[in-house]
Amino acid sequence: VGWDAAVDTDFHKLQTGPWKKGGRPYEQICDSALDLVGFTPMVRMSRLAKHLEVDCEILGKCEFFNAGGSVKDRIGKRMIEEAEKSGRIKKGDILIEPTSGNTGIGLCMAAAIKGYRMIICLPMKMSGEKVNTMKTLGAEIIRTPTEAAWNALDSHIYLSARLAKELNGHVLDQYKNAGNPLAHYEGTAEEIIEQTGGKLDYMVMSAGTGGTVTGCALKLKEKIPGIKIVAVDPYGSILAAPDSMNDKSVRTGAGVGTQYQVEGIGYDFIPTVIDKRAIDYWVKTDDDESFAMGRNLIRHEGLLIGGSCGATMAGAFRFIKENKIGAGKRVAILFADSSRNYMSKNMDDSWMEANGFSMKEINRTCNEKGY
Ligand code: PMP
Repeated sequence: VGWDAAVDTDFHKLQTGPWKKGGRPYEQICDSALDLVGFTPMVRMSRLAKHLEVDCEILGKCEFFNAGGSVKDRIGKRMIEEAEKSGRIKKGDILIEPTSGNTGIGLCMAAAIKGYRMIICLPMKMSGEKVNTMKTLGAEIIRTPTEAAWNALDSHIYLSARLAKELNGHVLDQYKNAGNPLAHYEGTAEEIIEQTGGKLDYMVMSAGTGGTVTGCALKLKEKIPGIKIVAVDPYGSILAAPDSMNDKSVRTGAGVGTQYQVEGIGYDFIPTVIDKRAIDYWVKTDDDESFAMGRNLIRHEGLLIGGSCGATMAGAFRFIKENKIGAGKRVAILFADSSRNYMSKNMDDSWMEANGFSMKEINRTCNEKGY
């Protein structure tokens, strides 16, 4: 794989993740919020399993327990630490990143603590909650058109590169930076292995940059023989393989269009950090099933998950049903972020209705069995 050569890509040699420091997380007083990144809990979702009538065990890896609220805190911290170690950046420098918001929050948190100036380039689609969080952490935000192709002059990716040149800043670039999959290879996956005792048959994750699914998959496959990796990709994105799965028409509450509403997953190009060879199965999801499943998950498990988690769970559910995964099998699902990011969007009934999602129908599916 062609990860950024500026970082040591031979990560098989690097075995010093935070879980190896010894001691339990939160046992001691922390030096900063950065110590509260990682060590996220896993929850057995037996109530949702009953509601969905699945017989296998389903487990949620709750990444919204990270200090900044998402799985991407791990890479925000890691990419800054790697760049500091290599001498590429120093306190006071300008960092610029194209993001769907969560990597931005992770970077802004690290930048606030360590003393960097942060500029975030963010497509218009992303929620106001993410914008306000990053602004409050001290960042400057530049919005770009949602529909701009990744290589268009006005895309968040192109704009970041241009600004970096003009301002003499640095783009750590989550799409290419080896620190992205490494944070999951050394952190997220090790935690999952420890928490499950290595008894895990399937791991389901959604893909944006693909850093989470790639880093986790490589480590899980090394340590758990026979484990299968399932990746979830929304309709409208081109990440899934084979490409024939990638129907470009997007089914979303208001009908069929070109833009899906779920944030943080899917792309119109293949990021360098994704290694598709590590993925055994792909599942495509649409907005309707994602938001309905998200509501179901919150209602039955009390886990305050974000929009892509609904997609990941909807993909996992379909995979479990289609492949008849039954009793005795264990499936873990990674929940990338929290409801906090979407209070004015899919957490808000009036937003849902205004965007064509029937709350009456969703409430019916949540409540129909009385549990
Ligand atoms: N879900 C959400 C809400 C995200 O913000 C992201 C990251 N863009 C992902 C899932 C996917 O993570 P990754 O970039 O590691 O594939």
